[in-house]
Amino acid sequence: MSSAISLNVGIARSASAGSADAADAKRVLLAEPRGYCAGVDRAVETVEKALEKHGAPVYVRKEIVHNRHVVETLRERGVIFVDETDEVPAGALLVFSAHGVSPAVHTAAAERDLRTIDATCPLVTKVHQEAKRFARDDFDILLIGHEGHEEVEGTAGEAPDHVQLVDGPGGVDGVTVRDENKVIWLSQTTLSVDETMETVRLLREKFPLLQDPPSDDICYATSNRQTAVKAMAPECDLVIVVGSRNSSNSVRLVEVALNAGARAAHLVDYAREVDTAWLDGVRTVGITSGASVPEILVEGVLELLAEHGFGNVQPVTTANETLVFALPRELRPARR
Ligand code: SF4
Repeated sequence: MSSAISLNVGIARSASAGSADAADAKRVLLAEPRGYCAGVDRAVETVEKALEKHGAPVYVRKEIVHNRHVVETLRERGVIFVDETDEVPAGALLVFSAHGVSPAVHTAAAERDLRTIDATCPLVTKVHQEAKRFARDDFDILLIGHEGHEEVEGTAGEAPDHVQLVDGPGGVDGVTVRDENKVIWLSQTTLSVDETMETVRLLREKFPLLQDPPSDDICYATSNRQTAVKAMAPECDLVIVVGSRNSSNSVRLVEVALNAGARAAHLVDYAREVDTAWLDGVRTVGITSGASVPEILVEGVLELLAEHGFGNVQPVTTANETLVFALPRELRPARR
C-alpha cells in the first residue's frame, strides 16, 4: 500500500502518477478510520470473555452489535441471542448489547434473577446520563434518532415522560413542548452529522431557546468515518461500504458517500455480495466499513477487487483513533 494521504492536500494519484497510464489506472481508496470503534471492540470482547469465564450458553439481549458476521460467529460459539429478558432461563447469564437498555429492562432482568453484564458503550451511557439529568431539571428533551432503533428505545426509556423522538428533519413539524424556555436536543450516537445539524436548525427555528447537549452525542467513531468518506467520495466512481443493513452508522456511510459526490454507493455484508457489474467503466472504488465491522470482511472485498484489476490501494486518512474502553467490571481481571 502507498503511504497515507492527507485530507488537507486532497487525494493524490498512485505512486507512479505522472504518465497518462497511471492517471487512468484502476485504484482503490481505502478510508481510515473505518471498522471497529472502541465501543464495539469492548462489547464483542465482553461476550468472548463471558464465554471463556462462564462457558456456553451466554445469553445476549438483541444483537451485541449490528453485524451479521459477528452475530453468526458468536452464535456458533454458544451465544443465544434473545429479544427480551423473559426468553432467558431464570438465573442464567445475560449480556446487554452495545446499544444500551432502558431501566425497565434492568428491572425485568433483576426480577428473573438473571446475572447480567452490561456491554452498553460508555458513549451511549453518557447520553443516558444527559437524558436523566435534563429530565430531573424538567426539560422537554427532543431526542433526534431513528424510530425503533434499540439505542433510542434505551435512551428514551430513561425519561419517558420528558423525551420526544424527532426522526430527522421530517419529524420537526409535529413537535410541541410545554415550556419553550426549557427545551434541549439530544441524539442517537450513530446519525448523519449533516442531517442532524439540519434537524437542529429546523428545531431552533421553531424553538429559538433550544439548548445544545453538553457535549456531542454523535460519537467520535460515527463522525470520523463520515469525514473519511467525504474526503474520498468526490474521487470515487463507486463506494462500497462493508456493513449490515440494520447498522445505522453503516447505512449513513452510503448516504454520506452519495451526498459527497460518489457516483454510486452500495452496502455489502460480504465480498460475495459485490456485483462485479458495478465495476464496469469504474476507475476509482472507495472502500470503508461501519463501526461494527471486523477488518477481515474488508480484506475479503479488497481481495475480490484485486482479482478484477483493482490492486492499487491508497489509504485516505483523516484521523487516527486511539480510544480504548475498559471491559465491564465483572470481566476486568480476565483482560490480557
Ligand atoms: S458507534 Fe460510537 S456509540 Fe456506538 S459503540 Fe461505537 S463508539 Fe460507541
